[in-house]
Amino acid sequence: MATKKFPCPECNTPLEWSTDNVNRPFCSERCKLLDLGSWANESYQIPAEISAEEDDYSSSMVPLENWKSPTIH
Ligand SMILES: [Zn+2]
Repeated sequence: MATKKFPCPECNTPLEWSTDNVNRPFCSERCKLLDLGSWANESYQIPAEISAEEDDYSSSMVPLENWKSPTIH
């Protein structure tokens, strides 16, 4: 049985693909947490961008609400 080797996505350390490695595809729990941390940082930026768009949206919705208001009709 040939052992498959692969680089750790976080630190590129060559690893053996083993079912004993609970931190797959990372070499260690540290690299796993580092990668999860970078993912958490990325996803943390997304709501900030959305809220900025929502803010723009709601400000453009104000004139629309005025148009639908019965006082204008
Ligand atoms: Zn690693």
